[in-house]
Amino acid sequence: MKMYVGGKWIDKSETIDVLNPFDGSVIDTVPRGDASDVDTAIASAERGAEAMATLSGYERYTILHRATEIMEERLEDLGRTITLEEGKVIAEGRGEAARAQETMTLSAEEAKRLGGEVVPLDGASNGAGKFGFTLRVPCGVVAAVTPFNFPLNLVCHKVGPGLAAGNAVIVKPATDTPLSALKLVEILLEAGLPAEAIQCVTGSGSSIGDSLCGDPRIRKISFTGSKEVGEHICSVAGLKKVTMELGSNAPLIVMEDADIDRVADATAVTGFANAGQVCISTQRVLASEKIYGDFIDALTPRVEALITGNPIEESVKVGPMIREPDAERVNDWIDEAVGGGARVVTGGAREGHMHQPTLVADVDPDMKISCDELFGPAVGVTKFSDIDAAIEMANRTNYGLSAAVFTQNIDWAMAFAHRVQSGSIHVNWGTVWRADLMPYGGLKDSGMGKEGPKYAVEEMTEMKMVVIH
Ligand code: NAP
Ligand code: MG
Repeated sequence: MKMYVGGKWIDKSETIDVLNPFDGSVIDTVPRGDASDVDTAIASAERGAEAMATLSGYERYTILHRATEIMEERLEDLGRTITLEEGKVIAEGRGEAARAQETMTLSAEEAKRLGGEVVPLDGASNGAGKFGFTLRVPCGVVAAVTPFNFPLNLVCHKVGPGLAAGNAVIVKPATDTPLSALKLVEILLEAGLPAEAIQCVTGSGSSIGDSLCGDPRIRKISFTGSKEVGEHICSVAGLKKVTMELGSNAPLIVMEDADIDRVADATAVTGFANAGQVCISTQRVLASEKIYGDFIDALTPRVEALITGNPIEESVKVGPMIREPDAERVNDWIDEAVGGGARVVTGGAREGHMHQPTLVADVDPDMKISCDELFGPAVGVTKFSDIDAAIEMANRTNYGLSAAVFTQNIDWAMAFAHRVQSGSIHVNWGTVWRADLMPYGGLKDSGMGKEGPKYAVEEMTEMKMVVIH
């Protein structure tokens, strides 16, 4: 595909191959954009932002709503594109496409709701006779830098609210997975979006990221990706608003009164979806010593039942990892844990991009598979004695994106909700669950700011205060 810069679809002499992670075949190519393309995109997006500012909320709603209708017609193609470039199984590819459409629907609705509030100035000692209210105005040009693992829905979580709020948006999709984002741009343009209000520059983040994120004409950066890149972006951003949606090593706590079959079902789903390449993937299971053995016995056959293979085939449950070095990393960290006394209950092998769904028991919290972000198809289990120990272990990490507890005891559930440092807390389901309308974002090193269209619109606007004297 071409990239969309300066209101035009353009080619470059240098291109990047987009590969199917399952078999390494070339699905398509995209241009290798450079700093001059970023400059063109920003200059054009400034005009796009002016065009957006002349549209009413209702007009922005109409365009986004039309986009959701076109998405509806293309859901199967979008789902297959996601699976082909990203490697998640086709049911998950289709699921992501459907969620992306819902994210755009929610965003369209938010375009109609950009309100302010009356501020009761007469309550101030100097406020008698004054009338005050707030207005929310677009930031201007928003940069949306997105990861490989949800190549459509996470782009929609930035583009939808960004446009709903009246901004122009420049998308820098992950180099491994640019096609879904480019297809979204096609849809938005067909839906009648002003030609310069969206831009999509393909190219390597390490070579064009600084020209984009450091440019003062960009007024807002919305980034989803690794902590390392997020920190780097913050260091070059200068004075602009930033939202950071970063990684984690999500804990799932199993209290002694939990329904073990349900926990095992939830762990098999939330630890292995997208081959574990989900920011909120269940990575650390912390199980009460009273049910530790029973839980491992219940989980083992469920992990063994996860068929690996070509993700485009309906029967396959776990596909390849995005890159071979990522699969190697997962394997190395498991080996390191085993070297330190942990035990592989099932799985453990790797071939190319494919890593077997793996269950590791007797994990020490200081092992890499517990304390760093693994981002692969393996779950480690650690034993705890009581709830205080469980909460301490859950919090013994710099991350805090999603956490789960299984218990029938409401006091334990509430203690967990209050004391575990995590952006989302799930009671009686695993760490991977999201409704696209809910506020979503991490604490600590997992980032700052919230997504979910209603909340993202706040992040993508500035507040003004008007005083009538
Ligand atoms: P990544 O390596 O951090 O890349 C994310 C994006 O940043 C890509 O578009 C990448 O471009 C770009 N980038 C790289 N270097 C850059 C630079 N110097 N300046 C500006 N942009 C730069 O992340 P990933 O491997 O794609 O995704 C996995 C990570 O995302 C995991 O840590 C996961 O937890 C996190 N994640 C978080 C959430 C959340 O909501 N909190 C959701 C999904 C994923 P290139 O592809 O060209 O390198
Ligand atoms: Mg990466």
